[in-house]
Amino acid sequence: MERDGELTATILDGRAVAEALRAELRTEAADLAIRLGFTPTLAIVTVGEDPAARSYIAGIKRACDRVGIGCRPLELPDTIGADALRATVCQLNADRAVCGVLATLPLPPGLPLGAIADTLDPAKDIDGITPTNAGRLALGQPTFAPNTPSGGMEILRRHAIPIAGQHAVVVGRSGIVGKPMALLLLAADATVTICHSHTRDLAALVRQADIVVTATGRAGIVTGAMLKPGATVIDFGINFPDSAGGKMVGDVDFASAARVAGAITPVPGGTGPVTNMMLMRNTLTAARALLAR
Ligand code: NAP
Repeated sequence: MERDGELTATILDGRAVAEALRAELRTEAADLAIRLGFTPTLAIVTVGEDPAARSYIAGIKRACDRVGIGCRPLELPDTIGADALRATVCQLNADRAVCGVLATLPLPPGLPLGAIADTLDPAKDIDGITPTNAGRLALGQPTFAPNTPSGGMEILRRHAIPIAGQHAVVVGRSGIVGKPMALLLLAADATVTICHSHTRDLAALVRQADIVVTATGRAGIVTGAMLKPGATVIDFGINFPDSAGGKMVGDVDFASAARVAGAITPVPGGTGPVTNMMLMRNTLTAARALLAR
């Protein structure tokens, strides 16, 4: 909130959350490797050439190395058909050392997501893309939820932001960010409103929110003038608009929002760094489940 024209919102530092998680998960990975007799491994399936996916994978590989998880990137040609892709996923399902499988999305045009999502063993679906795990999330049952929204919840929890009974307004309804975030907030007993491109009077709805979540890919879609004073803001947006001179910004106009919000994630350095740690955590959760089989 504004005090003498200064930014007074608490900055929700995702890098610090990721660092704390990394230290915890490193200990767990070492323990699991001893008990399982092998290093829990994450397989990353990428179809076709995608420079953005390449830097994403490099970040995941770094995270795996630092936590002590094996990383097996599989780069498949975009000429691969749905049947061959399914066969690859079946091989990963059968490989005991592979505890988690991540697909970099979207798949090239012509390849249905179902080629992976309908074939992948839900026990290895550490990003919550299978209908089984997405269904469990919708039913409020324990499951692997997508990593990006799980990271947003982790930021809220580690900063002791109250969720139960709060009104959360989620802007964006994609299957990998907005919708699962709304379901996770609902499971944590928030009252949830979901907004999307057909929503009338976004500002009026955002102004009611104790917690505002943005996942639209539209820079500046939420400004300080739209916020209730003291609201918590979780910004998943990743944008590089010309107006920011090529710099990365979120969906929220940070300068104006930080004068009104009580707490806010910066971009970069907010939700992004925590996403990969959720991937590490889910991979270790999948590995731990093997001990019980
Ligand atoms: P997406 O699939 O393109 O979905 C965007 C959502 O925003 C849609 O639901 C869309 O509504 C809604 N939207 C678009 N314009 C709107 C408007 N004017 N008013 C209200 N809602 C509007 O994007 P996504 O994959 O969810 O990603 C969202 C953002 O998060 C992107 O910037 C992406 O780069 C970023 N992201 C961040 C992370 C991370 O780790 N931080 C991870 C993944 C993605 P409709 O459904 O009606 O079209």
